[in-house]
Amino acid sequence: MSAVNETLIRDVVAEVMGRLNGNSAPAKSSPAPVPATASKNPDAACGCEHKAKLRPAVALRGKFGIFQDANEACAAAQEAYLQLQEKGVAARRKIEEIVKIFCDKNAEAWGKLELDETKIGRLDHKIEKLKIIKLVPGVDWLNPYGRSGDHGITLEEYTPFGVVGAVTPSTHSVPTMSGNIVNIAAAGNAVVFNPHPGAARCAAAAVRAYNEAIYRETGIENIACVVEKPTLESFNAICKNENVRLLLVTGGPMVVKAAMQTGKRAICAGPGNPPVLVDDTCCLKRAAKAIVQGAAYDNNLLCIGEKEVFVLDHIADKLMEQLSQNAAVKLSNAQLDALTKAAFTFKEGQAGGCAHASVNKDFIGRDAPVLAKAAGVNVPAGTQLLFAETDAKHPFVEEEQMMPFIPIVRVKSIEEGIEYSLEAEHNYKHTSIIHSHDVENMTAMARAMDTTLFIKNGPCMAGLGLGGEGYLSFSIATPTGEGITNPRTFTRVRRCVMVDNLRIY
Ligand code: NAD
Repeated sequence: MSAVNETLIRDVVAEVMGRLNGNSAPAKSSPAPVPATASKNPDAACGCEHKAKLRPAVALRGKFGIFQDANEACAAAQEAYLQLQEKGVAARRKIEEIVKIFCDKNAEAWGKLELDETKIGRLDHKIEKLKIIKLVPGVDWLNPYGRSGDHGITLEEYTPFGVVGAVTPSTHSVPTMSGNIVNIAAAGNAVVFNPHPGAARCAAAAVRAYNEAIYRETGIENIACVVEKPTLESFNAICKNENVRLLLVTGGPMVVKAAMQTGKRAICAGPGNPPVLVDDTCCLKRAAKAIVQGAAYDNNLLCIGEKEVFVLDHIADKLMEQLSQNAAVKLSNAQLDALTKAAFTFKEGQAGGCAHASVNKDFIGRDAPVLAKAAGVNVPAGTQLLFAETDAKHPFVEEEQMMPFIPIVRVKSIEEGIEYSLEAEHNYKHTSIIHSHDVENMTAMARAMDTTLFIKNGPCMAGLGLGGEGYLSFSIATPTGEGITNPRTFTRVRRCVMVDNLRIY
């Protein structure tokens, strides 16, 4: 029997015995108390009903956030939410600290765990994506808004919803979940995750580690819960559960559609297909370096990652030379054709329409040499990205392919580049990028694209605080408009008004 199980069993027995004897103290592994100043409920031995209500039910004890049943997970999260309310802001800070420290400390082990399970992306970037969770904003983000005037004072506070139901992608399971926990718990909520089935084991391992530490430090056991074997049924159960007040989904078009049909308020971090426009005023060296850095990152799994390049015709060759000097390899037309056949399947269009391309999952997030092999070419060690010239209608332009390959399309003018960029972005309103020193070109593209992120002269990740100013989130709410999610995203704004008094001048 593992040490963990022994502890759990001891806890459950102690709880039951405690109840039979009329006292509530669990034995051995009882958590360290949060500082007395933080607790709004210092009712140590009063035995009042209120306190009993806040104590987790025995059936939900010892799970440390891991549940088979979605409704049980929601019940446990509801209890954890009430406990968090009692423990105050100090407990929220503790949770934020634990998640950030654990991500940093476990980055290598958890990065490897996620790569082993999903088989997509790159280990160096999986590790980095956990190391940077420290850049996700937490409790300090919630500054109340105050007004003072002749009629007294008014305060608007950012208050929690309760339980948030969240869905995470296969492309960054533990980083998305961890960043979400920081945001959601900082705002005073608990959360239940239905992770991607192909990235659920790593999610459960991280959730258990967080909850064990959070329980030790605060006494709250299930602040972040996860359905161990997630299914569409468990997604539906979470959406329907009455404790779940808000949804957060991070994923492709299907899950966004499903969440929006639930009738519950949904914050949707949906798909992208970010275009890059390169004009003749930019620094081509810098542009090429940024394109390779962004498009090769985690083998192009990022939703913000550069997915297609439109470049003015007369500088296209120079840009491609620069790409070649930055660990990117150009494919010939024949090699591009071979890769396209391998990377997409083509289904016959309806009613005699064009064949529709869908991405072959076996190539998503795979290393550049794997793609090169499918293209029939050997590439030097250290190759990060492949590229080739295509037209604007090529599947590699139109589909969110999530592979370390980027199509380069020549355009006659900025106007044409913007038009093609708009088409390729499919109105996802996610991310677009320009390399230019011409303010009019930048402004024209920014206005036309209307994307949540618009990055000038840098790689995509500069838009999330990595090399650009700003904060980090792995959930960028695009169709629903909340933008780069942060603790305020998961709050209800409530106003408290004092009429005529308490103004001190
Ligand atoms: P995916 O859409 O296949 O899965 C995402 C999540 O949704 C998974 O947990 C999956 O189980 C669930 N899901 C899928 N279809 C569902 C349905 N019909 N009902 C309920 N749940 C459903 O995506 P993925 O391959 O895991 O991730 C990549 C996608 O996510 C890309 O489209 C990418 O752009 C997007 N993404 C967006 C952001 C963002 O912040 N906007 C961040 C990361 C990924």
